[in-house]
Amino acid sequence: MSGAGALNEVRAWLAAAQQPGGVVVLTGAGMSAESGIPTFRDAMHGLWSRFDPTALASEAGFRADPARVWQWYAERRAGVRAAQPNAGHRALADFARRHPGVLTLVTQNVDDLHARAGQPEVLPLHGDILQDRWLDPCPHPPQACTPGPAPEDAGPPRCVICGNRLRPGVVWFGETLPPEVLRAAEDAVRRCRLLLVVGTSGAVWPAAGLAGLGRRAGATVVVLNPQPSDIDGEARLCLRGTAAQLLPPLLAENPEMD
Ligand code: NAD
Repeated sequence: MSGAGALNEVRAWLAAAQQPGGVVVLTGAGMSAESGIPTFRDAMHGLWSRFDPTALASEAGFRADPARVWQWYAERRAGVRAAQPNAGHRALADFARRHPGVLTLVTQNVDDLHARAGQPEVLPLHGDILQDRWLDPCPHPPQACTPGPAPEDAGPPRCVICGNRLRPGVVWFGETLPPEVLRAAEDAVRRCRLLLVVGTSGAVWPAAGLAGLGRRAGATVVVLNPQPSDIDGEARLCLRGTAAQLLPPLLAENPEMD
């Protein structure tokens, strides 16, 4: 469903939900698509079209070919650094600043565009692509692992003491989400009155389960996505459009003035 009538209906739900913790927004890769960061579906072009993202974005894939996965992440990191927040990121950050304590932003994204748009707080379910961490626990405490120089094969730097490898600071397929972040997201979703789900296919769990959790706890769920998603069945309304098209008029104080 789209059009001014549907948007106005969601705006009325948003107005009614303006209480502490009343609104949760869950964002996925589609949120950043208009900033030029490809979704997983779109990312597998050119050089990478032969590879399955679920294999590249996994511990087994990294251990099988660390240099290949590191190079894929180096490209993705460069794309994130070059990107700018879009009108959707800015609309969310503006709303949060105008209504302190009302909106909880939960994201599956590993880019930093919500933060760069000025979002006061973000619950990042899947980590941060711009950070590194060690692949294995440090085997020689109390001396910490120490990264050596970038290797010639353009693979991940290794610890100069034990050879441990750096890896991207994201949650890979098959890995557990940071428990405190997931718990905070679940609590927020259970408490809220309105849950907006923006730009996610709803195919990656447990993040996808937050929509059903919210609906069962009594929240009104609204999906914003130009395409059908696996979460549409949880939604009272699906707004068909992009994040940068829909969020500014939805969240503006006076839409007719914008
Ligand atoms: P996905 O790639 O599976 O699906 C993207 C969804 O976004 C689709 O439903 C698509 O219809 C929708 N979409 C495309 N353009 C849109 C737009 N302009 N506005 C709104 N929606 C749009 O992504 P996912 O569901 O988030 O899950 C895949 C995983 O990919 C997540 O774990 C996420 O961490 C990771 N990922 C993150 C980024 C990022 O941080 N920007 C980029 C790619 C993948």
